Amino acid sequence: RLLGVTKTYDMGQVQVHALRDANLAIPVGKLLVILGPSGSGKTTLLNLLGGIDRATSGQIFIDGLEVTNLGEPDLVKYRRNKVGFVFQFFNLIPSLTARENVELAAELVPDPLNPVVVLEKVGLGDRIDHFPSELSGGEQQRVAVARALVKNPPLVLCDEPTGELDYATGISVLEVISKACHVDRRVVLLVTHNAVIAEMADIVVRLSGGRIVSFVENPRPKPARELVW
Ligand code: ADP
Ligand code: MG
Repeated sequence: RLLGVTKTYDMGQVQVHALRDANLAIPVGKLLVILGPSGSGKTTLLNLLGGIDRATSGQIFIDGLEVTNLGEPDLVKYRRNKVGFVFQFFNLIPSLTARENVELAAELVPDPLNPVVVLEKVGLGDRIDHFPSELSGGEQQRVAVARALVKNPPLVLCDEPTGELDYATGISVLEVISKACHVDRRVVLLVTHNAVIAEMADIVVRLSGGRIVSFVENPRPKPARELVW
């Protein structure tokens, strides 16, 4: 839940209002898609929820915990134990194989899933000993999704996870993300500027100029494999 969350970047002469008075209640087990043009505050919102960045004002509650109140050590614990993050540009460690990238995340948390099982679930059972440079973009993004999910986190944040992928691999990544939400009952936020992806959302939130301008429930979300763009 976000209550009056604001993020202002102070750039000396100018202040950038990246997020203005954001209020949002996110139900568990629902896929929330955040839509908005470039610069509208999507990444800022995810970074605040994920404890990567701090709000200027307002409160964020996750799972009963007030994230905005945490000191640095507790914020590290929060990020480590509660949040799975999928970045637009994958951010895999190049010197580690797919399996090692996922194992590293698993080692950080007390109750991880089995790395190889998770890699099999994202369809990479036959690629686990490949290095990132030996994988396609879609495969690298699926390793990144596995790395987020292996921690068994209640909250999964995906920042333009298909932005760098072709259509078919994008759909397969979206299917995995949808299952993480609807089958494994995690809170999943998916940021995109591709309006078609909103058709698979349970809830669509639109951002414009740092403001949440709409919050719409979708009565009939489409399965990922039926999306066309
Ligand atoms: P989006 O992800 O929707 O493209 P962002 O959340 O990245 O947008 O950025 C929102 C606004 O905040 C933009 O105007 C951007 O230039 C600005 N911004 C983002 N990060 C920083 C930063 N670290 N310092 C200053 N301004 C920033
Ligand atoms: Mg962004």
